Amino acid sequence: YKLNNLNLSKLEKQVSIPKYNRSNIKTGIVHVGIGGFHRAHQAYYTDKLLSDESIKDWGICGVALLDFDTKIYNVLKEQDGLYTLVVKELDGTLTKSIIGAITEYMFAPENPMQVIEKMASPEVKIISLTITEGGYNYNEATKTFNFENPLIQHDLKNPQAPKTIFGYLTQAFKLRKERGLLGCTVQSCDNVQGNGHVAKEMILSYVKAVEPELVSWIEANVSFPNSMVDRITPATSPSDITGLLETSGIDDVWPVVCEPFHQWVIEDDFIAGRPAWETVGAQFVKDVVPYEKMKLSLLNAGHSVLGILGALIGYSTIDEAANNPEISAFLKSFMDKEVTPILGNLEGVNLEKYKESLLQRFGNIYIKDQIDRICSESSAKFPIFVLPTVNAQLKQNGPIEYAAFVVAAWAIYSLGVNETGDELVVKDAMKTILNEKAIASKENPKAFLEIESVFGKIKDSAEFVDIYTNSYNNIVEHGVEKCVMEMYNKD
Ligand code: NAD
Repeated sequence: YKLNNLNLSKLEKQVSIPKYNRSNIKTGIVHVGIGGFHRAHQAYYTDKLLSDESIKDWGICGVALLDFDTKIYNVLKEQDGLYTLVVKELDGTLTKSIIGAITEYMFAPENPMQVIEKMASPEVKIISLTITEGGYNYNEATKTFNFENPLIQHDLKNPQAPKTIFGYLTQAFKLRKERGLLGCTVQSCDNVQGNGHVAKEMILSYVKAVEPELVSWIEANVSFPNSMVDRITPATSPSDITGLLETSGIDDVWPVVCEPFHQWVIEDDFIAGRPAWETVGAQFVKDVVPYEKMKLSLLNAGHSVLGILGALIGYSTIDEAANNPEISAFLKSFMDKEVTPILGNLEGVNLEKYKESLLQRFGNIYIKDQIDRICSESSAKFPIFVLPTVNAQLKQNGPIEYAAFVVAAWAIYSLGVNETGDELVVKDAMKTILNEKAIASKENPKAFLEIESVFGKIKDSAEFVDIYTNSYNNIVEHGVEKCVMEMYNKD
């Protein structure tokens, strides 16, 4: 059956379907970036919450903001906002459910005003975001908002027909203020350290430049809670789609696949109210920063380690890298020796158990998370996931060997060829400069570290440059696996 409202009851025997009347649900959340992760995480939690039929105010309006989002918009339109969530359990079984929490959907490039009106509508209390790490438009070198981005330049000139989240939010806040409406919460769900703080800082930087008189209204009427989000959600593969059709008879053009583990730790700062997500497993806390730091510097950095080293060796999925004993021992040493000491004492968290569970999750052979996906946009990921660990260790004269090795591997990866001579498809907004510097690094490895918007001042640390250069030359000479083996044997 084609997945849509009409066929929903026919699918009830095969999979679980929404237990609530979707037509009774009002939109309380506008979500920007309806990619795989939002559909496996926030929409999943919200769907569970809506199963309590007394809750009717927290439907989600999914906004596709970018031109290339036309596919997801068309799919949601054809399927009445419904999609299948396929959880790949550790033993390989599949748990499938149809998620109904996205009750409205909009394609911003087609009708920007419709999206702005929705964001400004009084019933909407939360505007949530998964716009990727790069979406925050933060320049690591200047530590400020990047006004040079051509899309930002476009928004500055065309406030009524914006293209970026910054242009949209500015217009929506302006309407709320002019109409005397209440404010709302901007809830970032991206993998960014202090994601709420960063969202606030970047949005205010933009607003200061275009509508300075709006700044104090935002400061008084909009809250920006930080959150830590976690559920590994690889890109959907063609076999996930055909498999679903063959095993369950569900004709879903874009199901979402994910791991069973899920975690959501949120700062309880919602100025206009919020859903009781704690009743379906989320944790509300006063300070989320320690949790975020732990997750970004262990899980996300761990992903980058496996991704970059695995790509050079010639693997295509994360589990292949994680199940290579050499690579996993390297990762474990990186986590224990370099990351753990900078995390301090995390109350209520058993770090040893957490690290153990990560190695198990990375090694899940059914998830088949794509190394390409993990390595994509590394220029936005390294400054958040890996480099804060390096900077913290440098400050206290601590060890940096493992992190420096991964940076050196990334420089070699950026040449676009793996160790067996096959092409690596580098997907990165900074691809051109990464490649230029990677080529220059063949002569002088330090050249790669000159990209200041990624590395900041790391090139000024003689200690880092030394270890990095050594690793670079070793990898070129002996290959990743051999170097890795030698490193942890030495320890
Ligand atoms: P995806 O490729 O499925 O979707 C990305 C979404 O982000 C798309 O809807 C796209 O339109 C939107 N987007 C990208 N750049 C944007 C921009 N500049 N402005 C506005 N929207 C933009 O990816 P995904 O798996 O859904 O991941 C999205 C983000 O979610 C990640 O970058 C990460 O911060 C967070 N996250 C993902 C995972 C995961 O396992 N996939 C886990 C935790 C957190």
